[in-house]
Amino acid sequence: MALHEISQAPFIQEMCEATSQLWAYGWAERNGGNISYRLPQEEVQYYLDINQVKTKAALEFAVESLAGEIFLVSGSGKYFKNVQKNPADSLAIIRIGAEGNTYELLWGLESGALPTSELASHLQCHAVRMTQDPKHRVILHTHATAISAMTFIHELDEKKFTKTLWQMITECLVVFPDGVSVLPWMVAGTSQLGAASAEKMYDSRIVIWPHHGIMGAGQTMDDAFGLVETAEKAAQIYLQICSTRQEIKQQITDQQLLDLAVKFHVKPKIGVLTEVGKQDV
Ligand SMILES: [Zn+2]
Repeated sequence: MALHEISQAPFIQEMCEATSQLWAYGWAERNGGNISYRLPQEEVQYYLDINQVKTKAALEFAVESLAGEIFLVSGSGKYFKNVQKNPADSLAIIRIGAEGNTYELLWGLESGALPTSELASHLQCHAVRMTQDPKHRVILHTHATAISAMTFIHELDEKKFTKTLWQMITECLVVFPDGVSVLPWMVAGTSQLGAASAEKMYDSRIVIWPHHGIMGAGQTMDDAFGLVETAEKAAQIYLQICSTRQEIKQQITDQQLLDLAVKFHVKPKIGVLTEVGKQDV
């Protein structure tokens, strides 16, 4: 079978668009941010001989459930600003080995770089999200400005953080009824951060890393991107309200948020809202 030109593959183009837009938003300074995109073998083999392995490397951890899975990932040290100009140098297509503790490089990273330094977090989060949602495909980490700023002035209690975001824009509860999770500050690039993020991904598709950024999960690039954009917009509104130093005179009530949940058939994260006449639901 003749292979198609990989630069024209929808998954490469989506990755180029997403990385460019994240940079344009100012959330991917220097080499900040990383994305991984799970690719079905049927999709990849139109563009790539998947039997041709460029290099093989060990992972510092094992994710057995991802054995044989193929991912498009951003490269370590690569600037999102530059991905579009040369995707074959900034991105990688890797396949996880049969034991889940190695990977094979099938394409990309032409000048010899490694996959993202947050690979541990990404793979562990993929493994968890796939148990929760078989259609899950994308993990996106970016240095979303307002979310990061909010972690300096808002309590890091994740129920309170979730409620504040839900109250900022009417659609937030509909877009992320599962709320946000918030970790304590942790050293970036470690498998401990990966394990802690993955643990949170059982219950919510957004994990906030205080004073660092946000991680979002989705079934498509648009889904993960839109999720992060929505949380970030809510955080922007929160910061603007704070900066006015005005007293809040009205806001969306718990009952109104519950009404929204009923109308849009979503189940709000438990313990965030207090129903009238009832304790936490
Ligand atoms: Zn980061």
